[in-house]
Formats: sequence, C-alpha cells, structure tokens
Amino acid sequence: MASAIEPCPFCLSGHLHITQNGPSFCIVCQSCKSKGPHRNELENAIDQWNLTSRKVISLSAGAINNQPDLRSPSLRTGHH
Ligand SMILES: [Zn+2]
Repeated sequence: MASAIEPCPFCLSGHLHITQNGPSFCIVCQSCKSKGPHRNELENAIDQWNLTSRKVISLSAGAINNQPDLRSPSLRTGHH
C-alpha cells in the first residue's frame, strides 16, 4: 500500500475518504463530494483518482498556458 492519494483537484482539499461499495472502492472528497472512479482494487481506485487529479490540474494549468498557443498552434503538435 505505497500509493499516496493526491489532493482533490477541484477544491484542493486533502480530506479524502475511501468508500467501499460492494466489491468496488471509490475515493470521495469530503469537502466538495467529488468522486473518483469505482475500481475493484483499492490501489487501482487510488491510481485512477490520482490520474484524474493530475489531468484536471494540468488542464486548468493548461488553460492558462494555452493562451499563447492559440496564436501558434504548431507548438502543440506532438505533445498530447
Ligand atoms: Zn474536493
């Protein structure tokens, strides 16, 4: 159980709770009630939450960084 859970990407809260619903685990933010994907393995649920967290954070960071890219779209090729 080495996986650390990333903070909630929506409200930046570290107050996360792991719920188990039958055979599946799910990470739930206690502050804004955001839910991660349900997975049958806890490690997997944490991994998916972390992936989502990083994606959301990079998207919101990208929204700022993308502004120059709108003027020069060629900068974006090959980076996906
Ligand atoms: Zn949250």
